[in-house]
Amino acid sequence: MNAFRFSTAPLDTASLQREMRDVTCGGFAAFEGWVRNHNEGLAVTRLEYEAFAELAEKEGARIVQEAIARFGVTRAGCVHRIGSLALGEVAVWVGVSAAHRDEAFRACRYIIDEVKHRVPIWKKEHYENGDSGWVNCERCAAPAAHHEEYAAPAAHERDYAAPVNYLHEHAHAHDHDHDHDHEIPSVAAPDYSRQIALREVGPEGQARLRAASVLVVGAGGLGVPVLQYLAGAGVGRIGIVDADRLEPSNLHRQTWYALADCGLEKSTLAAERVRALNPEVRVEPHALHLDANNADRLAAGHDLILDCSDNFATKFLLNDLALRTRKPVLFASVYQYEGQLQVVRGDEATACLRCVWPEATRDGLVGNCAEAGVLGPVPGVFGSLQALEALKLLLGLPGLEPGEMLIFDLVSLNTQRLRARRTPDCDAHRRAGQSAATLSPLELEVQFGSLAEAQAAGFTFVDVRDSRERADDPLPSLALCLPMSKLLTDAAMLDTGGRYLLICATGKRSAAAADLLRSQGFRECRSLRGGIKGLKASA
Ligand SMILES: [Zn+2]
Repeated sequence: MNAFRFSTAPLDTASLQREMRDVTCGGFAAFEGWVRNHNEGLAVTRLEYEAFAELAEKEGARIVQEAIARFGVTRAGCVHRIGSLALGEVAVWVGVSAAHRDEAFRACRYIIDEVKHRVPIWKKEHYENGDSGWVNCERCAAPAAHHEEYAAPAAHERDYAAPVNYLHEHAHAHDHDHDHDHEIPSVAAPDYSRQIALREVGPEGQARLRAASVLVVGAGGLGVPVLQYLAGAGVGRIGIVDADRLEPSNLHRQTWYALADCGLEKSTLAAERVRALNPEVRVEPHALHLDANNADRLAAGHDLILDCSDNFATKFLLNDLALRTRKPVLFASVYQYEGQLQVVRGDEATACLRCVWPEATRDGLVGNCAEAGVLGPVPGVFGSLQALEALKLLLGLPGLEPGEMLIFDLVSLNTQRLRARRTPDCDAHRRAGQSAATLSPLELEVQFGSLAEAQAAGFTFVDVRDSRERADDPLPSLALCLPMSKLLTDAAMLDTGGRYLLICATGKRSAAAADLLRSQGFRECRSLRGGIKGLKASA
């Protein structure tokens, strides 16, 4: 069972447990909520539960799926009684099977807590003195219509507007710390819980987004959804480059802005909107045209660049910047009802924009939105896809590969995913190759005061010492182990675009190793100057 359901019949917990059985699991956790005989000083004789079934089942199923995804458990299920229940009966049952006990416990706890807060179920208590009353949480349970239908008058008459509480330890209501945690606080703070709930995000992914810095070039039709979703997701720093001022003809596709904003700089307007959406984001507007003189300065310090421009000149500039700096650039382009996405990582092996579009392609040959016309949602779709790919890239999730193109025709709704060909005589690639050859040997080595500092700079550690040295003096941080003797044979496990910091005892072997790897195309690999001894000396 991976589900949420209601039962009008008493629950057979033994058979529910059998449903959850899975020989791949090492642990099973269950929770049973029982009907107890008193509440707030009144003696309870029996209970009734009612649910707004359609809504409740959907929400319950969502909670179970969230628990499975969030805690990586194998099976989870929840059954809730409705109808009339006697004292001692099981009102709600949650069962979770998992490889390990910890996930099982946590997923079980998550399901019961979330069901309590989110599923619209009402409880009517019958008391020994002949009275009865609906017990409900008017803050969380349901839309007003359901209150009218089921519960509201009785609840208010008796002033029993307390949360539904199935817990065996029936300490009622308002002393529970989680009774209020779903209320909107008066000064709202960003809440990323709905994306942290994804196993692929989690607290670690959220920290990665917070540490990330993205430059968005263009705050128009593509840039608007990109900026909305990146700011919403909590990307820590966002640069916005746009020299244009808002015009009334922009608004059908740039629906973040207002008619009253026309004539104002889009970079400033977009930055204001980002701040209003998420004050945690450090936003830097630049009311400039990106050009050959300012591109490197604007890109400095950003991990990822998003091209949301509508002209080839900007796209080619960013393409060349990707090849020169090895910073990934995620391109999106829209033409009438069609558009495409492409990632250029600037490596030797995969296609860049100039590999795909030879020199002949220039602005004026292909129309932009002003000349060719566009329906508002078209850039909206591509900007949303671009934001999604950007978040996946920052989170390390699979997606569009370097050199790949996604072409999406929004009339036929056909998509194509193509691997663009790396043209051997591509000018941009040749120029980047030449500048790489002139890299100063000093840049091979880099000095840090501590490994934490190096980690914060985004390096993955590669320990090139042999196994005995590693055992005698282990690194305090996680590192890939690639002893000198196996450097070339095992280098395949590294990503040629990865940011590696090679480490040995004194920095001599790691420098030689980094030099060797550089010659094999690992352009971002560096050596820790002074090695581990150097760190200890400076600590
Ligand atoms: Zn190229």
